[in-house]
Amino acid sequence: ESYKRISEVEEKVQAFLSLDEEKARETAKKLDEKLHLDESKGLLFGMPIGVKDNIVTKGLRTTCASKILSNFDPIYDATVMNKLHNAETITIGKLNMDEFAMGSSNENSAYKKTRNPWDLERVPGGSSGGSAAAVASGEVLFSLGSDTGGSIRQPASFCGVVGMKPTYGRVSRFGLVAFASSLDQIGPITRTVEDNAYLLQAIAGLDPMDSTSANMAVPSFVESLTGNIKGLKIAVPKEYLGEGVKEEVRQSIFDALKILEKLGASWEEVSLPHSKYALATYYLLSSSEASANLSRFDGVRYGYRTENPESLMDLYKKTRAEGFGEEVKRRIMLGTFALSSGYYDAYYKKAQKVRTLIKNDFEEVFKQYDVIIGPTTPTPAFKIDENTHDPLTMYANDILTIPVNLAGVPGISIPCGFDNGLPLGLQIIGKHFDESTIYRVAHAFE
Ligand code: GLN
Repeated sequence: ESYKRISEVEEKVQAFLSLDEEKARETAKKLDEKLHLDESKGLLFGMPIGVKDNIVTKGLRTTCASKILSNFDPIYDATVMNKLHNAETITIGKLNMDEFAMGSSNENSAYKKTRNPWDLERVPGGSSGGSAAAVASGEVLFSLGSDTGGSIRQPASFCGVVGMKPTYGRVSRFGLVAFASSLDQIGPITRTVEDNAYLLQAIAGLDPMDSTSANMAVPSFVESLTGNIKGLKIAVPKEYLGEGVKEEVRQSIFDALKILEKLGASWEEVSLPHSKYALATYYLLSSSEASANLSRFDGVRYGYRTENPESLMDLYKKTRAEGFGEEVKRRIMLGTFALSSGYYDAYYKKAQKVRTLIKNDFEEVFKQYDVIIGPTTPTPAFKIDENTHDPLTMYANDILTIPVNLAGVPGISIPCGFDNGLPLGLQIIGKHFDESTIYRVAHAFE
């Protein structure tokens, strides 16, 4: 069914970088045979799933939408892939993204521009744009994305689907090609909140292969979908409804709050006073980490290698100059500068301190409230090419999602009405490791 739908719409949507049809059919056949066996089958049994191309898949090309990994066929599976195999899902293929997950529109892919299924002239968001577009267009039922500063929630919002960035440490990052290791998290993108809870359940948990994965019990997320939010206390940060947020977006949040009030919840305005520093902090820290993480792509170990280098140094230089795209180079330069001696204290160390202040803002609010609610993005999906020549406007798109990564807390984006036919997203942010309450609130809308 997935491949049939893909053959109908992929030409327009352009969500996939590679398809794994032969293997998928083989898996499906094996699962079919199992259907007759009298053993219990998990709820994800046989579900077609798409995977962002920065999650390594054994024997299946993994490019991170970069030329530098154009010929990279991993010899192992990411932990989340092993978990999906255990849950007996079917991997349909690998999904387009911004190169190395740097971007908000999928326009930074070295291969293709994925389009927003609601309006093909517009971007699907990014960097997990392929993952969101494939679910929104019905090519797959589920997908995996990754979120460093908003890359699951922002495309979910632009494409009208459900996207969860779990608590930092909830899902193993083993086999996720690192962008900014202290911020990256893998998470599920689905049509419904219930599906999302099932998928997170399948991929979450401690992993000895990732020292930052948390030794925390994984509760039954689906059991939290009770529909009961009586007495729930909601905080609405005034910084999330201020300048730059489109009036229609603001209105959609107030409409949603009215629904929650009717269901017995109450809300109050609060302040996250350090939000205004989040964007600068994020770009310093994430670029610093990226400059270190991306040093491994040197043309020697794996991936693309320049032809006829004159020396080893020449090999490094040419490989990286030819293999990386413009945005990735911009981040590497920014990060290398911020980490260089003489500037380290002024930039990197300072940014780390501000990060703590941002985290404290959240902790303060969560002393009194169960969840924080606001928009996912200041505007609905923008037009293709509208922001490509203005990196700062592009960066500003993540202003409402980035603080969540800096604090390490979980956040979801769920569909929340339309503006001129374009989907809008509502963001629900929870306490560390309290995805359950987020799902409970999100489910109240379904
Ligand atoms: N758009 C942000 C960036 O370019 C976030 C990316 C992400 O979450 N991977 O860094």
